[in-house]
Amino acid sequence: MIDIQKIRQDFPILQREVYGKPLIYFDNAATTQKPRQVVESIVDEYYSVNANVHRGVHFLSQQATELHEGSREAVSKFINARSISEVVFTRGTTESINLLAFSFGEEFMQEGDEVIISTMEHHSNIVPWQLLAARKGIAIKVIPINAKGELLMDEYEKLFSERTKLVSVTHVSNVLGTVNPVKELIRIAHDHEVPVLIDGAQSVPHMQVDVQELDADFYAFSSHKMYGPTGIGVLYGKENWLDRLPPYQGGGEMIQHVSFERTTFNELPFKFEAGTPDYIGTTALAKALDYMTAIGLDKIAIYEHELTRYATERLKAIEGLRIYGEAEHKGSVISFLVGDIHHFDMGTLLDRLGIAVRTGHHCAQPLMQRFGIEGTVRASFAVYNTKEEVDVLTQGIERVSRMF
Ligand code: PLP
Repeated sequence: MIDIQKIRQDFPILQREVYGKPLIYFDNAATTQKPRQVVESIVDEYYSVNANVHRGVHFLSQQATELHEGSREAVSKFINARSISEVVFTRGTTESINLLAFSFGEEFMQEGDEVIISTMEHHSNIVPWQLLAARKGIAIKVIPINAKGELLMDEYEKLFSERTKLVSVTHVSNVLGTVNPVKELIRIAHDHEVPVLIDGAQSVPHMQVDVQELDADFYAFSSHKMYGPTGIGVLYGKENWLDRLPPYQGGGEMIQHVSFERTTFNELPFKFEAGTPDYIGTTALAKALDYMTAIGLDKIAIYEHELTRYATERLKAIEGLRIYGEAEHKGSVISFLVGDIHHFDMGTLLDRLGIAVRTGHHCAQPLMQRFGIEGTVRASFAVYNTKEEVDVLTQGIERVSRMF
């Protein structure tokens, strides 16, 4: 059992009030709150270790480098990468996907080649491929979903052709909560000798992810959605793939030798990390990983699953409430609408009760079109949320419904 009250003590923001009401923070899929351990790491490093990393001969620079590279090691262990060379630090999932779309597109895709994505992708796993399509004339194929919000696996298999070069699919939908069968998706792609990028923005914060067990070729995620700081993310890539990809940006750090005639690039993972990295952020990310590991990823998953089950049951009992996303395997996200109440009105009125939910298209407009809606209200949970908070949400929705 996890001691939720003890965990809540680590998050000072959860003690605050909004409009005179205790804050109930249900916008965790957008970003999670940060525990003291993470915030204090940022202050401590600036106060006592701050120096630019790599190549510094002086004490502070070496200490800062050790912390930064130690964090890479921590990330590598957390997702069970084979080596630290496979862990590229980026600004977040969005940059990780853009990096791959650019570099993979440059090296391995020609006009007429195809990438497979799905109906439930976040814009950050759609638009980079559209930019590549505009630049190189590639085609985007889309895996359809059923009414429950599950991928149609038979249709997926049919999308492969001689021209398929990459599959890029989300592990967990940020709107529907669907946990996709990524191991199976990867196996099928590999049968066609096609590599796979998994968008792990909504999975790594909530479950144990083992990139080797999944056999993912690339895996992207963001620190800020898993109790870590903003501005840091990861692109995991198998070494044999990363080795063959060209750099994404040029500058310091990513080179081995520069002359005006010819420049050679640094080894992995530095080839993809131009400029001064956010070494303060990576240390804080490592603290967030420690924090999650200390609670236990299995325990976090079980707790959040039960909380989501409870919330689903309570919400479903509300007259006129429709849930979008009823997949058999679901993460801790619930999207809903009530009667003909606009999602924006519901969100605004819940906010007045101290309840932070997200409203709108959740950066997944094609998915909204699939369901014929403009947006939803979304409640998404983290390990510090409680059933009592879900009860307040339920009462809040009922109260707002009565007003219309
Ligand atoms: N992919 C999914 C599934 C997401 O939910 C998000 C953010 O909500 C992203 C990608 C983009 O993440 P970031 O804004 O941290 O780059």
